[in-house]
Amino acid sequence: MELWITEQQNEDVNFTCRVKRTIYSEKTEFQQVDIMETEYFGKMMVLDGVIQTTTFDEFVYHEMIVHVPMLSHPDPKRILVIGGGDGGSVREIIRHKSVEKVDWVDIDGRVIEICKAYLPEWNSTVWGSPLVEQKTEDGLKHMKESQGMYDVIIVDCSDPVGPGELLFTYEFYKDIFGALKEDGLFVQQTESPFYHRELIKRIQKDVKSIYPITGLYTANIPTYPSGLHCFTIGSKKYDPASPVRFADFEPRWYTAKTHEASFVLPRFVEELTETE
Ligand code: SAM
Repeated sequence: MELWITEQQNEDVNFTCRVKRTIYSEKTEFQQVDIMETEYFGKMMVLDGVIQTTTFDEFVYHEMIVHVPMLSHPDPKRILVIGGGDGGSVREIIRHKSVEKVDWVDIDGRVIEICKAYLPEWNSTVWGSPLVEQKTEDGLKHMKESQGMYDVIIVDCSDPVGPGELLFTYEFYKDIFGALKEDGLFVQQTESPFYHRELIKRIQKDVKSIYPITGLYTANIPTYPSGLHCFTIGSKKYDPASPVRFADFEPRWYTAKTHEASFVLPRFVEELTETE
C-alpha cells in the first residue's frame, strides 16, 4: 500500500509527498510528533501535522536562522535558543568559536529526546558539548526571567498555533529586548511572505516599535509553505543586513553574499516592512 503525508498549508492548499516508512510516532504532553522517512526529502520531522525539518533542506533554514544574526555581531558569546527541538540551530551555533555558552530552551523535552534518538544527523555534535545547557521550559517564562544576558537570541519556534502561539506577540518581543545585552539582537522564523502576509506585517510593526533596528530577510526552503521563508530581526545596535565577520567554517548555503542578498527584498515582500 502506498503511504503519503499531507500537510494542510491553508484552507485551500495541501502539500503531499510519498513516505517510505514511519520511523517513530508519539503524542507528547504538548503535540503529536512524527518522524518519517520520505522518498524524496529524506527524513522528516512533523509536529501536529506540520513539517518542521527535512534532510533535504534543513541546512538552509538552520544556517540562515543562525549565521545571519551571529555574523552581524562582532563577538557573540552568550546565546539563547527558544524551541529548535531538532537541534539543528544549536549545531550551527557551536560552529562559532566566539561562543561561550548556549542556553537551549524547548517546552517539550520529548521532542528533544526523540530527535536525539532518530535524527542524529541533525544534532550529534550538540550532545556532549560543554557549551550547551538544555532546559525543558516554556520560552515565555525563560525570557521573562532573563535580564540583559544574551548577545544573540534565536527563536526557532513552531507556527503561531499550539504551544508556539504566544511566541509571536508584542509582549514576547519586549521580553526579548529585556533579555538581550545592550548591543544584542534576536531573530525569529516568521513564516511565508506569500501565505502569512498579515502576520509578518504585524510582527514588523511590533518589532519596529521596540527595537532601534529591524530587519526582514528571506531564504528558499522547499518543504515550507510556498518555498520562500521569512526571518525577522530586532537589533539594539548592529545592522543585520551585512556581516561584520566571515564564517571560519564552510556552510553550504550561507556566504557573506547570500547574507547580504537575503535582505534584498522583492517589492512584494518589502511592502510588508512598511508599517506606517
Ligand atoms: N524549523 C521549524 C519550523 O520553522 O517549522 C521549527 C522547529 S522546532 C522543532 C520548533 C520547536 O519549538 C518545537 O520543538 C517545540 O516544542 C518548540 N516550542 C513551541 N512552543 C514553545 C514555547 N512556548 N517555548 C519553547 N519552545 C517551544
